[in-house]
Amino acid sequence: MSNSLAPAHPTMRAFDATVAHVDGREVTLEETYFYPEGGGQPADRGVIGGVDIEHVRSVEGEVVHELAAEPEFAVGDEVTGVIDDDFRTYCMRAHTASHALYGAARHIFDDLGYGGFDISNEKVRVDFETSTTVDDDALAELGRLVNRAVWDSREVSWEEIPVSEAREREEVAFNVKTEEGVFADEDEVRIVTIDGWDWGACGGTHVANTIEIGPVEIYGRSNPGEGLTRVEFAVGPSAIDHRATVEAQARNAAATLDSSLESLGEAATDARSTRTDLEAELASLKSDVLKTRLAGFETVERDGLAWKIGSVSGFEANDVGEAAKAVRDDVDVLVAVGESSAPFIVVASAGDVSAGDVVADVTDEFGGGGGGSPTFAQGGGLGTDAAEIVTYLRP
Ligand SMILES: [Zn+2]
Repeated sequence: MSNSLAPAHPTMRAFDATVAHVDGREVTLEETYFYPEGGGQPADRGVIGGVDIEHVRSVEGEVVHELAAEPEFAVGDEVTGVIDDDFRTYCMRAHTASHALYGAARHIFDDLGYGGFDISNEKVRVDFETSTTVDDDALAELGRLVNRAVWDSREVSWEEIPVSEAREREEVAFNVKTEEGVFADEDEVRIVTIDGWDWGACGGTHVANTIEIGPVEIYGRSNPGEGLTRVEFAVGPSAIDHRATVEAQARNAAATLDSSLESLGEAATDARSTRTDLEAELASLKSDVLKTRLAGFETVERDGLAWKIGSVSGFEANDVGEAAKAVRDDVDVLVAVGESSAPFIVVASAGDVSAGDVVADVTDEFGGGGGGSPTFAQGGGLGTDAAEIVTYLRP
């Protein structure tokens, strides 16, 4: 009975071992190359003695294999363990990628500590302790550096050294969540080194050279807590598929903007700026049109005062209100009725007639609601068409 031999011999995929203990579906072996869930790396998959493994976990330093069914073998039998190659290889690549990413972060972040790590089927996350703000440019640089470390084919090695020595080596990053695996022996710690790039205390399984990681695709960043930056990435098919999706989108956007991929950002900024300018210009023109229309309402005399009463279509109540205030000085009372399925009314008054009273009169007659001050009021949801309201208000 022992710790897993997986971290020391990560390429072992099949082995024979003597059964040490069987308790229902739970089996321990005299020695095992299965990796138990821990430190952010998921448990291995595979079979023992032909029976599928559902889970592998470490219990007080002992590796317990939980099988899908009670085994026929018994204590003392020799059995063959077969580790699921695809899944373990994925985990090794993903795990080593997290070290390569940490090495990349060393080049960008002012202060850096290890905040956590997790591998799932689709993606990997690494939490960095740093006060550096990770903006888009920093994230892109992380992606560039980690992929450069892969291309540079850096050797990955591991060794056990005294804890005291490891603590003195400033470059060593400690993944606190794997301490159980890291400090396999109380006096020793396992250091995983990417040659010239990263040094981390870690009990997981790793590839022997960064070139085995393959392309690394950075997904994004988030802030899981104070002083923490979470970076999510993928390796393998998920990474390749994601890259293809992003590239297709980028090419599409570049074509739409008559740009190239390389100057897509600039083209998008220009398009946004042009749109902002055009929106402002359009708003200004619409306002001018609206004021002209309101000013063009026929002036009628009612109770000795000059009223302009008319209707408009195609404008929002708030815009009509602003325009009404702007042309109010020309007459004593200006009434604009908005044509829509539920007409609205805007009243601007110089003060001799209460705008609020006019709106109240109309809503009393036709339904709807509204209100305002003596000089400006609005109503909406009127239960008739605009023409009837205009007729009602004209003397
Ligand atoms: Zn590791």
